[in-house]
Amino acid sequence: MGLLALGTALDWPEAKEQAHLVRSWGIKQLLAIWSKAKGKERDAMLWGDEVEYLVVTYSKDDPKVLLSLRQADILDALENDKALCGTEKCTPVLPDGSSYQAHQAPPVFHPEFGRFMLEATPGKPWGIEFRELLEVEPNMKLRRYIAKDHMLPNEYPITLTTFPQLGSPGVFTDPFYPVSGSRLRSQFVPDEIANPHIRFPTLAANIRSRRGRKVQVNVPVFRDEKTPWPWRDPTVNYDLHQWPEDDDVRNGAAPDNFIHMDAMAFGMGSCCLQITFQAKNLTEGRQMYDQLSPLGPILLALTAATPIYKGFLADTDVRWNQISKAVDDRTPEELGEKNDRWRIPKSRYASNSTYISEDSRLRPEYLDQDLVIDEEIKQQLLDGGMDDRLATHFAHLFIRDPIVIFAEDLQELDLNKTDHFENIQSTNWQHMRFKPPPADNSIGWRVEFRPMEIQMTDFENAAFTVFIVLVTRVILSFNLNFYIPIAKVDENMETAHARDAVLTRRFHFRRNLFPATRARSSRGSNSGASTPVTSRPPTPTGPVDDEHRPMTVNEIINGTAYARSTSAAASASASATTTPGHPAERGQDHDDDGGEYFPGLIPLVESYLDAINIDVATRCRLATYLDLIRRRASGELWTAARWIRHFVATHPEYRQDSVVSERVSRDLVEAVIQVGEREAAGEGFAGMGERLALGSLLGGR
Ligand code: ADP
Ligand code: MG
Ligand code: MG
Ligand code: MG
Ligand code: MG
Ligand code: MG
Repeated sequence: MGLLALGTALDWPEAKEQAHLVRSWGIKQLLAIWSKAKGKERDAMLWGDEVEYLVVTYSKDDPKVLLSLRQADILDALENDKALCGTEKCTPVLPDGSSYQAHQAPPVFHPEFGRFMLEATPGKPWGIEFRELLEVEPNMKLRRYIAKDHMLPNEYPITLTTFPQLGSPGVFTDPFYPVSGSRLRSQFVPDEIANPHIRFPTLAANIRSRRGRKVQVNVPVFRDEKTPWPWRDPTVNYDLHQWPEDDDVRNGAAPDNFIHMDAMAFGMGSCCLQITFQAKNLTEGRQMYDQLSPLGPILLALTAATPIYKGFLADTDVRWNQISKAVDDRTPEELGEKNDRWRIPKSRYASNSTYISEDSRLRPEYLDQDLVIDEEIKQQLLDGGMDDRLATHFAHLFIRDPIVIFAEDLQELDLNKTDHFENIQSTNWQHMRFKPPPADNSIGWRVEFRPMEIQMTDFENAAFTVFIVLVTRVILSFNLNFYIPIAKVDENMETAHARDAVLTRRFHFRRNLFPATRARSSRGSNSGASTPVTSRPPTPTGPVDDEHRPMTVNEIINGTAYARSTSAAASASASATTTPGHPAERGQDHDDDGGEYFPGLIPLVESYLDAINIDVATRCRLATYLDLIRRRASGELWTAARWIRHFVATHPEYRQDSVVSERVSRDLVEAVIQVGEREAAGEGFAGMGERLALGSLLGGR
């Protein structure tokens, strides 16, 4: 694991003593890179995706699937073979007959928090060319193929967000370890569940220690026909007396009707899909950050894939809040339970709390007037020449303590590094991340889009990746305005958790995306220094709340015209399913919206594609991706969450009591592996569940 420096990690009491020093050095490093990089211009439009995998053991005759904890061995094998990539040995013809192009850089594999996880990125970032959009899916397949090629025959990389049996009683890891170690103190998962590199167990232990108790990851249980009610999590042990934290459950940590989890692994052990964009300059980066922000919750709902925790069906469809709770290091004071310097309303893993652009369309009313910031740090940034808005953003991130500090790094401040800055920055897990250039200033300002759930197939992962890339280009070329108050983005993030939110809920969304004068839109991407001030739209007036209205995901993605024509079909499909407890509660959400027109993101992408020169073949392939998004939003195709619920509900062993047994979990993982094998072989998906997101789309290719 050469990626991460080794050293002496401080336990919380010592780390706490050094927190101020790390923050102040981090700010100095940030200012150093700021003065070097703030004027950077004309960086290329590069971007890259990250795919995370669970590694499971499965064989046809084995009644159990387990999480494989061989991450380190697998990464070593991949690393040792890297030189061979692109040669015949490592990259033969893929199962679908395509061959790996030797000129591509070999994919990069990274460790992750869970010792059962892997992350893979393309070997080098993608560029501006449209044909590169078509390389994403084959590249994702290649990554999966190479990963599998470096595993044991019974190990598989799968892209489920969470392992259904993680933390359930009995054996769920290979090898087995008993629960309740000194670092996590979890009664459900062993310390060995985390990547053994000192950084990860320290992160988990110091979060727990700072917080003064274990994390409490409570997810509402799904109430099915035969679920006992009130429901008490039957896996919680109230009689443990090994650690002081064992008192947590006796002190009310595990309320009725919630699946109770107590360790970082329950959140950071989830897999997601992230996309990082490089902007041409600072101004454009800030614009991208702001404009992509309100799309976060919409894409979270569209990619929903997380209906099971610890062997129970949950009443939520996405992972987000669980990760948030799993790394919530706030003290009782910060949580508002006692008085202190400040109360912090959100976990360090949360939707972002502020906008950062100096766009004149950003009205002060969109910002959180009560944003908690470190005033002293803001002043230092202002004194260093940073503008108020960006200084506010960083002064907000810097209200957090560094959690993992290595003693060796505290000897002297090195302004040719950004380690202390990154310490705080990289443990602020927000749904967008604004990434400054590295200390050597070798690459540009980047923005990361982080809310999406990983999808079961590479086709879907490529589709969502391509969609976000295209939306970003549309934002820049049409100079679109997605601003709504940041508090509404938070609210939308909560809304996205509901079961089938994609079909049953409405999200606050901006009604008019266009600049005040349409004619200006084509110069939109020239924001920043080169844009004459006179071309900026006038500062808007009028009540902020009139600027947005609740919309369905179908309206947001497909536009009002399409949404009206498909909502009846989607209604029918929703009520025709046997998804447990999926009531026909959708109807009321499709009531008349007063006939107001909204163009929809897909039609905007289409008109962008119409306007540029793009060959027919490329356009057709892109259309298959857009079609997936379109039909996911309309309800014609299912989210992974819905497909998994359906799988469980129709399994002969399911008893309508919210329990997802080992057998059901095993069969679910088997089905996911089979989907993957069929995809790799370029086959269709008949019989896998007719509405599995990719069903009819891939079949017809
Ligand atoms: P992190 O885990 O910190 O988000 P990673 O290095 O795992 O970062 O992945 C970031 C993604 O950004 C990868 O897909 C990578 O290919 C991509 N990337 C690398 N360099 C650039 C760049 N200059 N501009 C945009 N994307 C980049
Ligand atoms: Mg990464
Ligand atoms: Mg990372
Ligand atoms: Mg990752
Ligand atoms: Mg079990
Ligand atoms: Mg990332």
